[in-house]
Amino acid sequence: MKQILFNMTPSQLEAFVTEIGQPKFRAKQISEWLMRGAPNFSVMKNLPESLRHDLDERAQTLPVNIVKKLESRDGETTKFLLELYDGEQIECVLMRTSYGNSVCVSSQAGCAMGCKFCASTLLGLKRNLSTNEIFSQILVAQWELRSDKFDKHQIHPNGDANNGDVSHIVVMGTGEPLQNTENVIGFIERANHEMGIGWRHITVSTCGIVPGIHDLIKWGRPINLAISLHAPTDELRSQIMPINNKYKLSDVLTAANEFTNAHNRQLMIEYILLGHKNENGETELYNATIEYAEKLADLLHGKNCMVNLIPWNAVDERDFASPSGNAVHRFQDILIQRGIHTRIRRERGTDIGSACGQLRLNNAKKINDQR
Ligand code: SAH
Repeated sequence: MKQILFNMTPSQLEAFVTEIGQPKFRAKQISEWLMRGAPNFSVMKNLPESLRHDLDERAQTLPVNIVKKLESRDGETTKFLLELYDGEQIECVLMRTSYGNSVCVSSQAGCAMGCKFCASTLLGLKRNLSTNEIFSQILVAQWELRSDKFDKHQIHPNGDANNGDVSHIVVMGTGEPLQNTENVIGFIERANHEMGIGWRHITVSTCGIVPGIHDLIKWGRPINLAISLHAPTDELRSQIMPINNKYKLSDVLTAANEFTNAHNRQLMIEYILLGHKNENGETELYNATIEYAEKLADLLHGKNCMVNLIPWNAVDERDFASPSGNAVHRFQDILIQRGIHTRIRRERGTDIGSACGQLRLNNAKKINDQR
């Protein structure tokens, strides 16, 4: 197996370059390229060609290899399917927005949570990602952004802070971040220290692992917290999110509010709007009825929060349906009338299967078909 240079400490990298007969300063040159997300050695034009060739034979740059890169038609969203050293695949998504460049990263290969509407969990959990594997996802996005604007071989390895770099991170890709809290925290610390991304530009989304939220409180960084709520009653939530059998709605909200109050932040609530098909093939509302909107408003009354309504992104294997635009707006209107900050999340990159875990799932299916 090829050595992964990004996983080496500075002294290990120096030892490595010395071993292949190179002066020590090459280690510094290489690590600057690694921090810019260089996907291979051929782009490292300040290294002699023979060395680049040699490196290519023995090593790889990052612990993730790009298997597929998809661009949405509007050019705003780029989705990457990445392969890890053991053949596991993960996804990350770059979103170019009016407020900056946001990257959605995965925290696990697969997911154990079993939410009934989600594609990520269909193949179960394979393993946790390392801090380096999570961090590499934003480096891949960073490289992509710089190549948007420049011929990347021409710019200085340290780049230019204002050229449209990654500015926001959401830990909302495949996996449950609070089942891999230590590595997620390690990643966020590095993103802040090494890439200069502000705490308040970083969001962790959880299905509601209460001890994990307490770990975040102890950690004490003022990041944003998003809770995937998706239902306003324990009865309904337990039907679509098995984790609710372990941590009840009221406990999740209490812990989440404790976190956001400590940092004077607004709690983000994610609410997917789901319908399902009845016997006549018509779409009936599931958690998106007027009754549930009222219940959600009761539940969130007086809390400092923002509700993101997310029309469900269809996943073939799942028995739900997306509600109509009218139903979505009706649901939002009720919350707003009741004084709850609410917005409808604009879906990005639906033309490139940007819903959680779709790309990874489709690729796994294709590999199975070929066998
Ligand atoms: N496990 C974490 C983070 C990953 S999921 C969590 O539960 O928050 C990120 C968000 O996407 C969650 O709110 C999740 O419920 C939502 N999601 C999953 N599948 C979806 C789909 N098909 N359409 C729209 N949103 C989806």
